[in-house]
Amino acid sequence: MGICGGQKNTDANSDKPGVIFVVGGPGAGKGTACAQLVKKYGFMHLSTGDLLRAEVASGSEKGKELQVIMSEGGLVKTEDLLLLVEAAMRKNGWAKSKFLLDGFPRNKENVVTYGEKLMDKTNLLGILYFELDQETMRARLLGRNEGRADDNEETIKKRLATYENETVPVVTEMDTQNKNVWRVNSGQTMEKTFEDTVVQVDKMLG
Ligand code: AMP
Repeated sequence: MGICGGQKNTDANSDKPGVIFVVGGPGAGKGTACAQLVKKYGFMHLSTGDLLRAEVASGSEKGKELQVIMSEGGLVKTEDLLLLVEAAMRKNGWAKSKFLLDGFPRNKENVVTYGEKLMDKTNLLGILYFELDQETMRARLLGRNEGRADDNEETIKKRLATYENETVPVVTEMDTQNKNVWRVNSGQTMEKTFEDTVVQVDKMLG
């Protein structure tokens, strides 16, 4: 698939930012874990969903296009997303930082386009994968009440299907190819999930 996961960002003089992909279904607890990781390791947290929602909130023409896709539970064009990602990285220290790219990748197009646009400019450190069953994700999404337009029954169904049909196969393929996927069972208590996350991140960075 042309995505490599083996490079470590150990060179202090590197002109490339370190990147950890954070994957998991909607409601799998990626955001919570990322907030805890930021505190422990000093990573910068970039949520792809948050970056897209900020673009929508800006009222731009591009934001209007994105909003339609997001409200239907589909995936936006990767090129549009990566422009926002690179701009946010440059605003937040670029090579001085290690970034948690939360919500990426989600499909094959994400992986291929990252390979074309950002792979050479970044050091991909690894892929952190939060696993949770569909029913628990659905219940968590319906219960979380964050006021998100896409947290309704109909859109949740589509987001879960997109996850199952597009994201899971692409993560499985990356795992087979580069063995740099670090799995965490996020069906446990928040404390235990984070404990396991730290073990996996330490192994990834080690
Ligand atoms: P999230 O907040 O992670 O649930 O993302 C909200 C929505 O943003 C998703 O349902 C997609 O429409 C869009 N989105 C987020 N991340 C990606 C991505 N990596 N590729 C394409 N679309 C994305």
